[in-house]
Amino acid sequence: MTPLDHIIRERIELDGPMRVSDFMQICLLHPEHGYYVKNPAFGVQGDFTTAPEISQMFGELLGLCLAQAWMDQGAPADFHLLELGPGRGTLMSDILRATRSVPGLHRAADITLLEASETMQKRQQHTLSGYQVKWISSLGELAEKPIFVVANEFFDALPIRQYVRVGDVWHERLIGLQDDELGFGLSPIAQTSDYLQTRLSDTQDGDIVEVSEATQSVTGQLSKRIQTHGGCALIIDYGGWTSKGDTLQAVADHQYSNVLHALGDADLTAHVDFEQIASASRCQVSNMCTQQDLLERLGISHRTQTLVTSAANEVQKNDVISAYRRLTHEKEMGTLFKAISLFPQNGPCPAGFEA
Ligand code: SAH
Repeated sequence: MTPLDHIIRERIELDGPMRVSDFMQICLLHPEHGYYVKNPAFGVQGDFTTAPEISQMFGELLGLCLAQAWMDQGAPADFHLLELGPGRGTLMSDILRATRSVPGLHRAADITLLEASETMQKRQQHTLSGYQVKWISSLGELAEKPIFVVANEFFDALPIRQYVRVGDVWHERLIGLQDDELGFGLSPIAQTSDYLQTRLSDTQDGDIVEVSEATQSVTGQLSKRIQTHGGCALIIDYGGWTSKGDTLQAVADHQYSNVLHALGDADLTAHVDFEQIASASRCQVSNMCTQQDLLERLGISHRTQTLVTSAANEVQKNDVISAYRRLTHEKEMGTLFKAISLFPQNGPCPAGFEA
């Protein structure tokens, strides 16, 4: 048993069954034993890898998209260049390299990272040592100025609550102890909310729906700032429109594992429900598209060609081609990952997205 196993069992014995959201929060961010606090094995060699770790092209294209959006909104002289959940800092580093020659952009950019784990902050500091970077732990710390935001695989780490339909009412799925083993059960009292009520029309007895209050809160705050001060947000993650079913998953060493085992040693995520992002937004929202469509529209084929032509040898050439495939092919990340953008009402929609 891991230290977190003991901590979570003790809490359940004391307070009763636990919400999935509290379980996720503790497993990922417990101040001592949380997955992201304990120096997670991250990247190509680690538990899981992400698009910016696969190829520099991902960050370069998003960087140019952000730069174009900044220019389309009159190139404001002071803005937050904000990343949510920056991991190893690779994405921000690629964004900054790709935008180096955009006149005035770096001078105007107040590079800001929202990161909950000090361990990850240290890694980001190391990767971004050539830049002046600020960390925040909540969006309330942002100044009143435009925000140009990127979030890749951030929302999938935010806690979700799960509800199970029983007849025509919903019960919350909770984690409790049965015969000294952690297991899932249902809250005794039926749960109601306008959202759960609307989901009676597209679900059946026994179906699970997931709700992320944290996602709604972050999107609400970002979108209000974008509407008031200008800017945009590019959000990329795996998931879909109106998710249904249990999508909570644990991954360690590139393998799925049991979410109730090895607590704190596996990454714990859930599919992102893009409809919940769109409906919590207080600014304009683009259509959701696939990562494949976004990257193709931003010119990934052309960029791949350029890198292949300038590759020093066959190995490098094959690396670029295989990265292109991993990012865009439907059997890889191309269609499982989706993208959406937020921008001001009546303002220009960021390049690569469709309003
Ligand atoms: N965007 C990166 C890393 C994704 S992993 C990439 O594409 O490679 C998720 C990141 O979000 C990690 O840095 C993790 O520490 C951070 N994180 C997770 N939950 C968070 C929260 N509630 N608030 C802020 N950061 C969080």
